[in-house]
Amino acid sequence: MSRITAVATARLVRDLHTPFVTALRRTSQVSSVVVRVTDADGRSGYGEAPQVWRVTGESLESIEACVRGPLADALVGFDPAGAEPDSAVRLLERAVVGNGGARAACEIAVVDLLARASGMTLSAFLGGQVDSVRTDVTISADGGAWSPERLASAGFDRAKIKVGLDPSDIDRVIAIHAAVPGVPVRLDANQGWDLAGASAAVEAMLAAGVGLEFLEQPLPAWDLAGHAELRRRFGVPIVLDESVFGIHDLHRAIDAGAGDIVNIKLAKCGGLYAGLEIAKEAFAADLEVMVGSMMESELGTSAAAALASAVAPGHVHDLDAAWWSIDLADAGTPYREGRFRLAHSPGLTHAQQRVMPSFAVA
Ligand SMILES: [Mg+2]
Repeated sequence: MSRITAVATARLVRDLHTPFVTALRRTSQVSSVVVRVTDADGRSGYGEAPQVWRVTGESLESIEACVRGPLADALVGFDPAGAEPDSAVRLLERAVVGNGGARAACEIAVVDLLARASGMTLSAFLGGQVDSVRTDVTISADGGAWSPERLASAGFDRAKIKVGLDPSDIDRVIAIHAAVPGVPVRLDANQGWDLAGASAAVEAMLAAGVGLEFLEQPLPAWDLAGHAELRRRFGVPIVLDESVFGIHDLHRAIDAGAGDIVNIKLAKCGGLYAGLEIAKEAFAADLEVMVGSMMESELGTSAAAALASAVAPGHVHDLDAAWWSIDLADAGTPYREGRFRLAHSPGLTHAQQRVMPSFAVA
């Protein structure tokens, strides 16, 4: 192995087959920046940083500026093979504050390069021992294009319903539950409610006989006390997503008793080894973890799936992001029977070749 000699970016834009709507945003495209790191032996690794104005605050332009500027400065000359596994995460954390997606894409690219050099899948490199992980599928907050047949077509048996836009949400949840009564209901309000609104919503759903598997981020990210109060009132498991970016957020959430499950996303925490650390600390505090992702392509989702396979191989994760931009007739899709299939080729080679066979350096 040898030192990193170059860091480059390229833009990736893909249309979704169905608009994706949450309480925070509506989008009909995946817009992301793919990062490539190259070492002195000519080997490359790839990572993806999605544009997420409303969660990480990152844009395509900010990601490019960050990666080509301070993150490239930090990485060029660094030899990852001779360092501790989490050294790229630490190096990049010291280079910039925030910019979690840009940092994660660089770290994933470094780890991808190491996995490819070892001839290992990214999952195996991280300690995973399964070849697929289960995932839910999201039902948008506007209910668009949803049907029980659509859900079943990809074999999904868990649905995560986006709520938090308006009070009629609850009628929609009750109707979906009635249409697919055997499918456990996961709700994600993306910070769209306040304590009174969330309480009323949970009471209405419980009264209607909707069994909630969990309620994700009902309240604003800062409101740890409110999330703790909801847990006490209803006993419904609370997932923290926007409240927990990194390990320090996790410790604050644990101290506040604010959640039962943490939704780990690479673009929030800054990389695969940061995600592994969050999972370890969460388990030590008797919390569960779920691995999710932003709206990103098969490249970024494959990295998240590799992390999921390593930290919680038996859980149902939140890895449907890439499904929204695949050709639904594509026989090579990783989505089958409600699972995300991990590729058998080294590192992220398979996903990278599917989404970006040629890398047009910006
Ligand atoms: Mg969420």
